[in-house]
Amino acid sequence: MPLNYDPDIFDEEHEMFRRTVSNFFEKEADPYAEQWDEDHAIPRSFWLKAGEAGILGIGVPEEYGGPGGEFLHRVVMTQEMGYSISGASVGPAFQRDQMCEQLMDFGSDYHKERWLPKMVKGECLLAFTVTEPDSGSDLSAIRTTAVLDGDEYVINGAKTYISGIADADLFMIACKTDPTAGSRGISVFLVERDTPGLTIGRILKKMGCHASNNGELHFDNMRVPAKNLYGPLNGGFKVIAKSLNRDRLMWSIISHAAATRAFDLTVEFVKNRKGFGQTIFDFQNTQFKLAEMKAELEVGQAYIDRCLRTYRRKGEVDMMEATMAKLWLPEMEGRVVDQCVQLHGGGGYMDEYPISRLFTAARLHRIFAGTAEIMKLQIGRAL
Ligand SMILES: Cc1cc2nc3c(=O)[nH]c(=O)nc-3n(C[C@H](O)[C@H](O)[C@H](O)COP(=O)(O)OP(=O)(O)OC[C@H]3O[C@@H](n4cnc5c(N)ncnc54)[C@H](O)[C@@H]3O)c2cc1C
Repeated sequence: MPLNYDPDIFDEEHEMFRRTVSNFFEKEADPYAEQWDEDHAIPRSFWLKAGEAGILGIGVPEEYGGPGGEFLHRVVMTQEMGYSISGASVGPAFQRDQMCEQLMDFGSDYHKERWLPKMVKGECLLAFTVTEPDSGSDLSAIRTTAVLDGDEYVINGAKTYISGIADADLFMIACKTDPTAGSRGISVFLVERDTPGLTIGRILKKMGCHASNNGELHFDNMRVPAKNLYGPLNGGFKVIAKSLNRDRLMWSIISHAAATRAFDLTVEFVKNRKGFGQTIFDFQNTQFKLAEMKAELEVGQAYIDRCLRTYRRKGEVDMMEATMAKLWLPEMEGRVVDQCVQLHGGGGYMDEYPISRLFTAARLHRIFAGTAEIMKLQIGRAL
């Protein structure tokens, strides 16, 4: 458990849940993360255990087999996952579980009954597919099309960089249903893995977060029942934007939690490592660096708390606050983790020290769920 959490935001029940999640990751994920990174896969047994422990599908009511809970339970889960040693490996794959809450907002009764009970048990894993070979930040430029033919849509196109693709059972796919209408012509579909016309492409080699594999998807005249349309026809942009707001705040929280773990690991390391007749911690340079990091972490925590207080007041994530959090916290994480690698010396570059995995994961956090530049663009536009 990284820091002292604000008792004005979290109550005793949240803190009990925090202990459950923290113990779960310590026991069921941390010891295996290195192996999962080597395998480029997280075994299904992990997801089934997470479902059993009640940490999948937070916000899904009992009616659909879910554990219940609300937004702050998800925040607690995200903080503890982010702080865990395995967070650097499983983070992107784990975060797709947020889509369960989305399904409660935008899914039809058919969608909820068909998929939610399996999703909360870890029996149905979802992948969120927006990015294409020719469009990432510019969502309105996607080229995958869905054309109505009778009571089915015919989908053609391709997606790339998709997290958790190797074991996904269900794909949430952003398509153009009106190619002349830009962002107002996008719709989202839910498509099962065994649908004819859907092919999984290459699994891509990457810098870090190896267990959360990433890859390509191709759709070749893939026929999907019209009832698999998710959210309003041509209203997909709003569906995606709502999920991105939450996603931005959650990734900011992960950045903060991971930076805190990097800091804690580093304090422990420098207090044990010796050089020139003293510990590395004893050098004033080390203490100054640690002091700078500690201050950045505390300031970051205060801003996250502010975002959470706003949520409690308004009942939703404030878009501008989430955008500023997503700009600043991953950059802060980058500064902190880089210093932590330096203080580890050569060990910081070796995968046997978790700091090395935290470093490559941190680099991702400034790129996905909206790049730092897109955050600046949106903040700038609002000035
Ligand atoms: C590990 C990983 C996991 C991912 N998982 C998923 C997933 O599960 N599902 C999914 O759909 N996608 C996923 N992505 C894709 C990710 O969301 C995109 O890579 C990201 O949004 C950036 O898009 P892009 O790569 O096309 O970069 P581009 O949009 O081509 O941007 C390239 C550069 O130009 C900058 N830029 C772009 N537009 C502007 C502008 N208007 N002004 C100034 N600068 C600009 C960007 O900030 C960036 O620095 C994942 C990516 C990675 C690396």
